[in-house]
Amino acid sequence: MELVREEEVVRVLQELVRKPSQNPPGNERVVAEHIHEVITGWGFEAEYLRKPEPSRPSVAAIYRGTEERPRLVLNGHIDVVPEGDPEGWTVPPFEGVVKEGRIYGRGACDMKGGVAAAMIAAKAIKESGVKLRGNLVLQFAMGEETGEAGTKSLLEEGFGGDWGIVLEPSDLRVMTAEKGLAWYHFSIKGKPTHASKPEQGINSIDKSAKLIAALREYDREIGKRSHPLCGRDICSVTMIRAGTKENVIPESCWLAIDRRIIPGESIEQVDREIGEIVRRLEKEDPDFKCVWKRVRLYESAEIPAEHEIARVVRKNVKEVTGVYPQPAGIVASTDQRNFINDAGIPAITWGPGWGKSHEFDEHIEIKKVVDCAKILVLTILDLLE
Ligand SMILES: [Zn+2]
Repeated sequence: MELVREEEVVRVLQELVRKPSQNPPGNERVVAEHIHEVITGWGFEAEYLRKPEPSRPSVAAIYRGTEERPRLVLNGHIDVVPEGDPEGWTVPPFEGVVKEGRIYGRGACDMKGGVAAAMIAAKAIKESGVKLRGNLVLQFAMGEETGEAGTKSLLEEGFGGDWGIVLEPSDLRVMTAEKGLAWYHFSIKGKPTHASKPEQGINSIDKSAKLIAALREYDREIGKRSHPLCGRDICSVTMIRAGTKENVIPESCWLAIDRRIIPGESIEQVDREIGEIVRRLEKEDPDFKCVWKRVRLYESAEIPAEHEIARVVRKNVKEVTGVYPQPAGIVASTDQRNFINDAGIPAITWGPGWGKSHEFDEHIEIKKVVDCAKILVLTILDLLE
C-alpha cells in the first residue's frame, strides 16, 4: 500500500483539473490526450476510442493478466460541467488549488478525483510486480454530463468485463441501485385574441395551469412509491414558456417535466400515467388541447445489494477506513446504467467526494481520493489476482 502516495495522488489530480474539459461544449480532447500520455508513460498500452464523436475521444487501457479472465472495469468520465460565472468562485476553477486538505476546481469532485484514484491504483498494481490472473480495464469516457454514449461505446468496443465500478462521487458508499429519469414536453394550444375580449379566445396559460395542478397531484400520488435505497418517485415541472405580448391572449404554452423513476418501475407505465393525465383533462374540458412527447430517457438500474462486487468493495472500505458502509442507492443517474442495462455487467457507483458536484468552489478531500485508490488496489487484488 506504500505504492499509493499522497503527493502523487495530489499531482495527478491537479494535472487533471488543470486540463479544462467542459461539456458543453465538449472539450474532452485536452484531458483525453493528457491521460493517454500519462498512462502510456507509466507503461500501459492505451488507446483512443473516437466514438460516438471523432473529435471528442475517450481513452481506454487494458492491463492484461496471465489468464485474461476475469475482468474488472474501472470507469470514469473525463468531461466536467462548465465552471459558470467566474465571480462565483473564490479560487480559480482550473488551477487545482490545494487548501486545508482539499483540492479545488471544476471537476475535482465530479469526477476527476475518481479518475485520479483509478490511474494511481492501476499504477500501484503495475509497480508492485504482482502477477494478476485477470484483466484490469480502465475506461476514461467522454460525454457523461450530456448523456452521450461515451461509456456505452467503450463497453461495445471491447472494453467490458465481469464487474464494473463507476467512480462517481458517493462518499465511498457502495451504491447498487440508481434512479432513472424521463423528460416530457407538453404543448398546450390556445386561441389568440385581444386581451380586451378574452371570452373570444382560449387562454393557453390558464389551460396549462390545469395541467400543472394535475401534475402536482400526480407527484403527491407517486411520492407514495419508494425504493429502499433510492427514495421516492418524483415529478417536477421544470420549464415553461408562453405568451407573445401583454395584451394578447396567449396562443400556446409549452412546458417540460422531469420525472425521476425508481428501480422496478417501467417506462411504459410512466408513459401511460402521463397519457392518462392529459386524456382526463381533455375529457373534462373540450378547450384543453395538448400534445406531449417523451424526449429523454435514462433507465433506472439495480443489482442485488449483496452482489459480489458490492461485498468486496464494502469489505475493503472497512479495511482502509475502519467503517463498513451500509447499502445505498443513488438518486441521480450515472453511467452505471450502461453497464447493467446495456452491457449486462453488474456494476456499482462508488467513489470519493460528495455533494460538491456542479457547485462553485467545487472541491474534494485529498484523503478520500487516497483512500479510494487504496481500496481499489485491494479490490483489484481480491478479484483479479
Ligand atoms: Zn459525474
